[in-house]
Amino acid sequence: MNKIQSWGRLTNNKHRVISLINSNSVINQINLTSNKGISHGMGRSYGDVALNRNNTIWLTTQLNHFISFNLKTGILQCEAGVILQDIQRSLLPQGWLLPVTPGTQMITVGGAIANDIHGKNHHHFGSFGDHLISIKLVRTNGEVINCSRLENPEWFFATLGGIGLTGVIVEATLQLRAIEGGWIEAETVPYYSLNDFFTLSDQSIADWEHSVSWIDCVQGKEANGLFIRGNFAKQQHQYPHLPTIQDKTFPISPPFSLVNRLSLPLFNFAYFHNNKRKTKTQRLHYEKFFYPLDALQQWNKMYGKKGFYQYQCVVPRHIGQEAIHEMLKVIKKSGEGSFLAVLKTFGDRESGGLLSFPRSGVTLALDFPNRGDKTLKLFNELDRITAEAEGRLYLAKDTRMSRDLFEMGYPRFNEFFKYIDPGISSEMSRRLLGV
Ligand SMILES: Cc1cc2nc3c(=O)[nH]c(=O)nc-3n(C[C@H](O)[C@H](O)[C@H](O)COP(=O)(O)OP(=O)(O)OC[C@H]3O[C@@H](n4cnc5c(N)ncnc54)[C@H](O)[C@@H]3O)c2cc1C
Repeated sequence: MNKIQSWGRLTNNKHRVISLINSNSVINQINLTSNKGISHGMGRSYGDVALNRNNTIWLTTQLNHFISFNLKTGILQCEAGVILQDIQRSLLPQGWLLPVTPGTQMITVGGAIANDIHGKNHHHFGSFGDHLISIKLVRTNGEVINCSRLENPEWFFATLGGIGLTGVIVEATLQLRAIEGGWIEAETVPYYSLNDFFTLSDQSIADWEHSVSWIDCVQGKEANGLFIRGNFAKQQHQYPHLPTIQDKTFPISPPFSLVNRLSLPLFNFAYFHNNKRKTKTQRLHYEKFFYPLDALQQWNKMYGKKGFYQYQCVVPRHIGQEAIHEMLKVIKKSGEGSFLAVLKTFGDRESGGLLSFPRSGVTLALDFPNRGDKTLKLFNELDRITAEAEGRLYLAKDTRMSRDLFEMGYPRFNEFFKYIDPGISSEMSRRLLGV
């Protein structure tokens, strides 16, 4: 038994770890134990979606082979444990990149499908599932299901965003996008109210592919923030070659959180005031623009031994401003500030995944050090606002939402039950689906 943690480091429980090593014989490896298991990729989900305490996890990271790539069409077939960074770094020189990636590229293709992840360009490119052509799924009874929008589509849409419960994804076929190079023309625009944020968001949709914003939820009466938008630069042959980015590792494991009531306002003040003077225009390496946190591996250790929570909700646009305003008010009042607070809008595209998170609206993601009951009390308040706005919480980030809130936010959960593999279970599935 090995101790396995998720990204939030909230628990440190033992798991029986079986490393899947060959996509053709996955079924033999899965059946090495008789108890229920769950697939586990890079463990970049914050909560309990890939955990299965005292039970089995099937580690997929050795299923890391490319199977085929068509240079003309950009269609990639690969095993499900391939890491997005490997796709990006090896195929960019050929002129292709993934159309949708999250704020880290250290995740597996299987994890990206199972959470139907989103990026900073939802308005233009939707979520990961919008570029997924097909999946090869292995069930614990040995059945192999090949599915796509045309072949077994019901399995395709259950597995997309299906949090690993429909079977083990062993292979996937993805449509990449053609790209002229890896530089991004980026702009950082300071804003001073939620109203300004929404105006900037609306104004940016047509001309900017990527947009995201950092928001200060510790200080000030209004919502100060930095709106960051970017486009891939054109005619890149005139730019110097992309440098290779060397990642660093967070050097210590502090016993207590370095993010606290003293450090947080100082960080927010410095970050905002460094950037607030005027709109800043830069040409950035795509890794710096999309994955700034990857530059410091294991940064999650800065929250100390007790770990941290991430709270991410999406609420419909028509009530979004009011709901986010109320959330920020509640957070400021609680004194539980968030170091990484990200506010962005989603477009109208829906991928069709029965349990997919992205939906039209505005999404707020916040990291909070684990201060026990105080933090959980704040989440109850945020849940109330999310529920009143008829929003939902993101399963990839969650570790504590109630079953009621889940059922309200994911109204197709009833349709999902029949696709759950009886040999699969996770801490999240027991908590939210009772299986
Ligand atoms: C710094 C940071 C930034 C992030 N930014 C974003 C963001 O912008 N947008 C976003 O959407 N997410 C974001 N995330 C969340 C992350 O993208 C997801 O949690 C992703 O699913 C993690 O993939 P993983 O390979 O680590 O999978 P894990 O976390 O190990 O597992 C996630 C789920 O996938 C299932 N799974 C994994 N492999 C398989 C397989 N082969 N077959 C079946 N099921 C499988 C697991 O059972 C589990 O349900 C971020 C996370 C971090 C740490």
